[in-house]
Amino acid sequence: MVGLQGGVCALCRERAPQHVDHDHMTGQVRGVLCSCCNQGLGNFRDRADVLRTAIDYLERTTWQRQQVSPGVYRVTSPRQAAARSRSSSELQHLISSRRG
Ligand SMILES: [Zn+2]
Repeated sequence: MVGLQGGVCALCRERAPQHVDHDHMTGQVRGVLCSCCNQGLGNFRDRADVLRTAIDYLERTTWQRQQVSPGVYRVTSPRQAAARSRSSSELQHLISSRRG
């Protein structure tokens, strides 16, 4: 499984994978994570809704570093990140409304 993940944590893709992560309801193994990511999921109680809210919160309030190519990063202010997120969701809404 670690080989399939490229030898790195399945979430952050940066750190060494050290913890076998599993679904606490079914026991099914989901991946191998670094200590930080494994603890992060646990601290968020595996709740995707809270994690999405946390992502939105971070994008609205924190400078963001986004990798655009290997070794090259774009840094955006919280306002820019929020605008990009908003325009992305507006585009998604536009696509959805044209399909429906
Ligand atoms: Zn990680």
